[in-house]
Amino acid sequence: MDAGEVLRLDREHVWHPYTAVPSGVPVHVVRRAGGVRITLGDGRELIDGMASWWAAIHGYNHPRLNRAARDQIDDMAHVMFGGLTHEPAVRLAHRLTGMTGLDRVFLADSGSVAVEVAIKMAVQYSGRSTLLTVRGGYHGDTFAAMSVCDPVNGMHHLFTGMLPRHVFAPAPPHDYGRRPAPASESGPDEAYLAELTAAVEAHADRLAAIIVEPVVQGAGGMRFYHPAYLRRLRDLADEHGILLIADEIATGFGRTGEMFGCDHAGIRPDIMCVGKALTGGYMTLAATLCTARVADRIGVLMHGPTYMGNPLACAVAGASLDLLAERPWREEVARIEAALLDGLAPAADAPGVRDVRVLGAIGVIETDQPVDVAKIQDIVMEHGVWLRPFGRLIYTMPPYACTQEDVARIAGAMVAATAAL
Ligand code: PMP
Repeated sequence: MDAGEVLRLDREHVWHPYTAVPSGVPVHVVRRAGGVRITLGDGRELIDGMASWWAAIHGYNHPRLNRAARDQIDDMAHVMFGGLTHEPAVRLAHRLTGMTGLDRVFLADSGSVAVEVAIKMAVQYSGRSTLLTVRGGYHGDTFAAMSVCDPVNGMHHLFTGMLPRHVFAPAPPHDYGRRPAPASESGPDEAYLAELTAAVEAHADRLAAIIVEPVVQGAGGMRFYHPAYLRRLRDLADEHGILLIADEIATGFGRTGEMFGCDHAGIRPDIMCVGKALTGGYMTLAATLCTARVADRIGVLMHGPTYMGNPLACAVAGASLDLLAERPWREEVARIEAALLDGLAPAADAPGVRDVRVLGAIGVIETDQPVDVAKIQDIVMEHGVWLRPFGRLIYTMPPYACTQEDVARIAGAMVAATAAL
């Protein structure tokens, strides 16, 4: 099929995320993806500054991940997980518990479902049905997940009538990460700590759990908050016998410079959700982990998707975690952080730019006004880079496999895009 035919059929039949059919916004045909680049239907090669939405940390078409998928498919692509088990799933579960210090693993099929399962765990554990979350948060597009997202983030307002009501603490100030000079890392905001404490204490006797994205609020605004807030939530949860759920779907597996966002605060949650980079961006797989104490009290957990524990996805995830363990990801992410800080610095003074911030392999330009997505994409694509800005954010979370030149190119494209503000 030529690229024109793909686009014609796409326009006729296919929904893309958060769009109509036809989408009304430009859609590009991808022919191939290899290393950190995607190749479009017209032959253009772009560095993927999005890593397929935080996931493709090793880059595309990786021989080790390809081999893991190929080897596994020759044994079995899938079998039901009800009453059956297999090596790829138990190996992965063992690996994840070793990495997180948690004990039990529910293998889900997407990040949103992992959050649904975490919420079910908290409800079954506590017999309560109210959660505390923070404004600015994002946890997925399924119903329970939407109910703990910031209701004003614009993504879920059509469904508010159907969503259970939870308690919302104020959004954390974004006072973490690094910024071009002269501003630098600041300490925690004591007034915010007091607000957070008051919000939890006011509702403590009816809370099943507190759910947060550790240190980075992703789709809710790409905000980086001080680990002291997370530590306070851990303390408050302990004090009041409430579970702490860490949604590490975006932050997990090294993205923020630590293996998990919780590591910035030196805490362990009772329940953790992981996804996205779990399979290195190859397959749809996520997991909800919890402590033995939580699992023992829950007993029978009421969830069981058809594709639970998919052997192909588990085998690729195992290979992706092997690769992560072998690659010097900490140094790679630190190098990306330095290159982003350096490369994005000129944007700090550009008209229409409110803030430039970097944490690990995440670089953000926040603007004063919502950006014209198509216009920004045109500019960055001219620079050989793929990005998907949203709202007031032009941002990147590149594959760890990017070279310094790749990162400089991404940052340069982002700075160039500020000319369109
Ligand atoms: N939680 C967080 C923190 C996320 O960033 C996302 C995805 N953007 C989700 C949950 C939902 O994951 P998925 O898109 O795989 O359902």
